[in-house]
Amino acid sequence: MRTRILFLAVIASTAISQSCKKDNAAMVPTEQDEVSTVNSALAQLGFDTTSVIIKGDNIFVEDDIVLKKSELFKTQPRQAVIQPNTLFSGIWAYRLRSFTYFISNSLGNHRHVAAGMDELRRVMPNNVVITRVYNEAAADLVFRGYNEVSTICGFASWPTITLTPSAISEMIVGESVHINLHNWRDLNESQRKALIAHEVGHAIGIRHTNWRAGEQEATPGPGGATYGAYTVPNTNNTGTNPDPSSIFNGGSCGRSWGGGFTENDRRAIVYVSIGLTI
Ligand SMILES: [Zn+2]
Repeated sequence: MRTRILFLAVIASTAISQSCKKDNAAMVPTEQDEVSTVNSALAQLGFDTTSVIIKGDNIFVEDDIVLKKSELFKTQPRQAVIQPNTLFSGIWAYRLRSFTYFISNSLGNHRHVAAGMDELRRVMPNNVVITRVYNEAAADLVFRGYNEVSTICGFASWPTITLTPSAISEMIVGESVHINLHNWRDLNESQRKALIAHEVGHAIGIRHTNWRAGEQEATPGPGGATYGAYTVPNTNNTGTNPDPSSIFNGGSCGRSWGGGFTENDRRAIVYVSIGLTI
């Protein structure tokens, strides 16, 4: 349904990255039918299933996006957030709930993490407040460091949507962003800022810009629901990588902040957060 992809999510994409391949050796062996069940659910959600890795309850897709297996099959709230965030009968599909974040001591140089968050804050609509806290228990989103010899620079939890009976549904930021210290220590401040902004984008439901290389477009599914990758209105979606300077390009670990968020990145952030098309 190409013509309907008006609402398409952004920016989704595939993990084109050589720089982001996950180490398959780390994959926990799983039953084949479990894998195919998970893959089928992921395909419905529009994710590329060619490089899925299951580790316990975590499902890694496209290198650096983490979904919870235990939540994958819930009908409500649905794990996959990227859905048209548009106006239905006067009600927004959902709004991103204001959130707090905490930077764990396991991750060095908090200033660089905060710098990435400040960039996001600059383009985030005012009604979504992002606040740093210094007590982990008070945080909605936690940044953590880990060490792994791999080309992955980090990964982020996908958000969830909480449906509220009579009000606007809320999107709840993903619970964590993990940064691979093995690579982080070699990145400069500009590269770190770009990495943080990229991962937090996933935590608020933004997929990779270059998604067309491996994902399925949104198509009608069972019960009239539509599943798949949605693009952001008013963004160019032709070709497999329509916005190559996007901070949300997959496989971009090590890139510098440069010009920062592109115009389309900004559109995606506003659209996914409060549903406004700019
Ligand atoms: Zn990514």
